[in-house]
Parts: sequence; C-alpha cells; structure tokens
Amino acid sequence: MTFTTRFAPSPTGPLHLGHAYSALFAYNMAQTRNGRFLLRVEDIDRSRARAEWETQIYDDLAWLGLKWETPVMRQSDRFDVYQDVLDQLWARGLLYPCTCSRADIAAAASAPQEGVPLLGPDGVIYPGTCREKHKMTERAQRPDNAALRLNMSKALRLTGHSNASTAPVMFKEACLPTESGTAQMSGPEILRTIGDIVLARRDIGMSYHLSVVLDDAAQGVTDVIRGADLFDATVIHVLLQELLNLPTPVYHHHPLIRDDKGKRLAKRDDARALSLYRAQGASPADIRALIGL
Ligand code: GLU
Repeated sequence: MTFTTRFAPSPTGPLHLGHAYSALFAYNMAQTRNGRFLLRVEDIDRSRARAEWETQIYDDLAWLGLKWETPVMRQSDRFDVYQDVLDQLWARGLLYPCTCSRADIAAAASAPQEGVPLLGPDGVIYPGTCREKHKMTERAQRPDNAALRLNMSKALRLTGHSNASTAPVMFKEACLPTESGTAQMSGPEILRTIGDIVLARRDIGMSYHLSVVLDDAAQGVTDVIRGADLFDATVIHVLLQELLNLPTPVYHHHPLIRDDKGKRLAKRDDARALSLYRAQGASPADIRALIGL
C-alpha cells in the first residue's frame, strides 16, 4: 500500500510555525517513503472559516516548497456524505439528540452525587441527561435542531470493547513513546474519561471527530501525522473507524512547537505567523532552521 499522509489545517487564522512544522514533518516523511502528500481544508465550521485564510494557506505552503495533489479535499463540499453517515448511525440506535447547554452539563456533572466533573478530550464528560430522556421517548425521526451524541456504552458493546476483560481499543503510535509502539484504552476507561461525545454539533450539524475519520478514509490515508495535542482524541477516532468498518491508519503524533515560555502556539499567536516572517524577509530555509527540520 502506498504510504499516504495529509496536512489538514482549518482556515480560521494564519498558519504559524507549529503548522509549518506539522506540514513539513508530513511532507518529508512522504518524500522519504516515496509516498503521497495530500492537503485537506478542514472548514466544517462555516462561521469561523474564511476564504482569505484558505488562500493564504496555499500561498504559505507553496512558499515553504511543498507540493500537494489536486483537487484539494474541502470539508464544506462533503456535507452530504456526512449526513448519510449520521443517518446510518441514527438508524443503528447509536445516536441520541441532546439539547443541554454547556451550563446545564457543568451543573449536572458537578451535582453533589456526581462529584467533581471529569474533563475529557471534548471538555466535561457528559453526565447522560438527554440519553435517559431519549430512552423514554425513542423518537424515530432524527431532529435537526439538536446536537447528536454517541451512545458510548452501546458503541463499545457493538465493537466488542464493553468490559475490562474484552480487548481494549488499540492503535499503532509511531512517534510518541508508548509501550511497544501501541497505544490503547479499555472500554470502561473510555466510558469514564471520554463518555458520550457530540458527533453532530447543533450549530454546524457535524463534528471534528466524525469528519476527520470519514475524510482520512476517503483520502486513503495510511499514516496520520499531526500534533501530540490530538493523541488523546485518537481512541475516539479508532472506535468510530471500527463502528463504520473503516481501516485504522498508523498514527504519528509529533511534539508541539512551543514559544519561549514553553506554551504551545495557537492560531491567535499571530506573532509567529509565517506571513509575518515572510514579510520580514525570512526565507523558507530560515523557517526550517527555526523549527529544526
Ligand atoms: N484541523 C485540525 C487542526 O487544524 C487538524 C486535524 C488533524 O490533523 O486530525 O488542528
């Protein structure tokens, strides 16, 4: 199988040194392995994505010397595919509508009998309020004015991970140090530390977790190369792949580029924007030297 990787930025701000690191890391590996390097524009959140940021992404990456296959996949072109999969998951009884606000969730999760709210990759672990309501009503029609959550307990049961004596969810981690190159989490731990995640947000009708899984499969990605900040979310992605019968790629979570104070760079760190370095006369070789690639 041809080694295939991708760089998947969201056009919601300027690319900075951290993005340059991720893109070059993936690009270099694709070159070394005689593989394919793809680009994907992660613009499901139409309220934050901007055409000018997308143009700037192409501009910055070309300036860095990267070449990618065209046409570029854009998530905003794929809403029909996403809706089909949500319909299938709904029909399998794996989703339920959730109308809780953030404040409702925080209040329910910190109610005295629940103890201190646990934080997962998506924030406070959902206490299950709407799951219980849905059990009582069992609506056949999928509503379009509510978020849709995954019934995690059912998902774990269907994939054979429901208790401590069954196999954990596993994936190959080729970059971060793990025991024998494999990362894993048991079903009960997933239930406790991740819980019923949102698969379709009320505002955009979709979620990062589901789109990234569908897009990686559609692009034939064999190796996902991305920042270590996404390591904790990866068991979610692997579980979704199992539910949807999609292949699990090898994951390479690379270390993050940090500022002088050790803080990881964020989109709002415009001071590290590649365009600013360019405007100040830096060359692509200067950027490579700065990030050590
Ligand atoms: N779009 C995500 C970001 O810009 C990257 C997602 C991924 O590589 O899986 O952080």
